[in-house]
Amino acid sequence: MHVTTAIDVPVYTPMPAAERDALLADVEAYCQELRPIEDLCYLEHRFNKDSIDLARKHDIMGMIVPKEYGGRGADFPTYATAMARIGREGTGVRTLFSGHCSIGQTPVIEWGTDEQKRRYLPDSATGERIMAFGLTEPEAGSNPLELQSTYRRDGDHYVLNGVKYLISNGTIAHTIIVFAYPEGDNGKGRRMSAFIMDTDGDGLEREELTAKLGMPTSDTAMFEMEEYRVPVDNMLGEEGNGFRVAMKTIRAGRLSVASGCVGVTEDCLESAIDYAKERHQHGKAIARHQLIQDHLAMIEIGRQSSSSIVADAARTKAASEDHPEDEELGRQADLLIAKAKFVATNVAFDAADRALQVLGGKGWSDLYRPGRHWKDARVCRIYEGSDEILKLKVAADLLGKEYAAFS
Ligand SMILES: Cc1cc2nc3c(=O)[nH]c(=O)nc-3n(C[C@H](O)[C@H](O)[C@H](O)COP(=O)(O)OP(=O)(O)OC[C@H]3O[C@@H](n4cnc5c(N)ncnc54)[C@H](O)[C@@H]3O)c2cc1C
Repeated sequence: MHVTTAIDVPVYTPMPAAERDALLADVEAYCQELRPIEDLCYLEHRFNKDSIDLARKHDIMGMIVPKEYGGRGADFPTYATAMARIGREGTGVRTLFSGHCSIGQTPVIEWGTDEQKRRYLPDSATGERIMAFGLTEPEAGSNPLELQSTYRRDGDHYVLNGVKYLISNGTIAHTIIVFAYPEGDNGKGRRMSAFIMDTDGDGLEREELTAKLGMPTSDTAMFEMEEYRVPVDNMLGEEGNGFRVAMKTIRAGRLSVASGCVGVTEDCLESAIDYAKERHQHGKAIARHQLIQDHLAMIEIGRQSSSSIVADAARTKAASEDHPEDEELGRQADLLIAKAKFVATNVAFDAADRALQVLGGKGWSDLYRPGRHWKDARVCRIYEGSDEILKLKVAADLLGKEYAAFS
């Protein structure tokens, strides 16, 4: 194994600078307008409906949707910057966007037919249609191949049965990308398929999951499909190609989680610095105590490392989208995104913990931002690839596929 630190800077075609600046200005205006409402919803532990209405107002529900389908056509580095900014407002709000854009719209952009794109992208870009992604089930989390949902063909429909669990935007979504195996096929070589499922038919029971550690302002749900009919035109990608659709989509999802966590770290650093300068104990500002400075320095070092690796991952992902024929670049992007997600989520959780400590007793309160980030960011080390799964992926790359611990 040849280990090297040489880095090739990936080349991609960026979106026009004026469009990028306009999008990021809209995201900034959104975040500023959202903050007081989000504060209130957090304290009242309720879903923040305004997070969608305001996103529609500022035209940011279609950030990654190509312009020809009514979106803003953001490249990955710009989208990552937007997610970092939204992440500062809270992981709950950022999760709304990850569910809607990264894992809801991406599979349609990537795998949809022209007709499916025309049917689903324009109104999801305006935010009239909310999207979600339903892969996880009660018996299938880290290993989606163990999912139990099934489908069968019945005339011009597929009939779906099964339960999906822990789905972001699951109660509010108008359309969910779901995955299922052919009914009756329990063989080793069975292959799942992906479906674009509208949620307005008969046979869908949805339930909001409210007993959560954090993210009270976001929607997390489970739902059951019982003889649920989806038109044959709504199969996404080729039959049997669902696992590929899911894995490629998760790559985009991971990048958004990592980016959001950079924002969490920035926000925690800002809160900790402000408070440390203001608060006096033992005759001086606590910022003058060396052990408080240790917390600030460690948050800053983590912030810089995570923002660098996330930026690298976003650029590599953008370059690999520009060059889909380059399989090695795709592999590098996949791996770098996994590493970036591991680094950024762990840094964010540590930053929230340190900032909470700097705020002392006030840190241990929903009235202050670090304590909220501490509760909310914890899930980032679990969803879209847990810490363990990401480390196994990195190790498998180092050792060779034959050593892959999860196979
Ligand atoms: C708030 C929230 C939102 C979510 N949103 C979505 C969504 O929108 N769509 C969706 O499809 N899913 C979503 N999920 C589900 C999420 O992706 C899963 O929770 C995640 O994949 C882990 O699966 P699990 O919870 O079943 O844990 P399990 O897979 O049961 O894992 C339990 C523990 O075992 C570890 N583990 C598992 N396998 C191995 C192994 N081979 N080696 C070592 N350790 C291992 C895991 O890392 C974990 O620590 C969401 C989850 C949460 C909490």
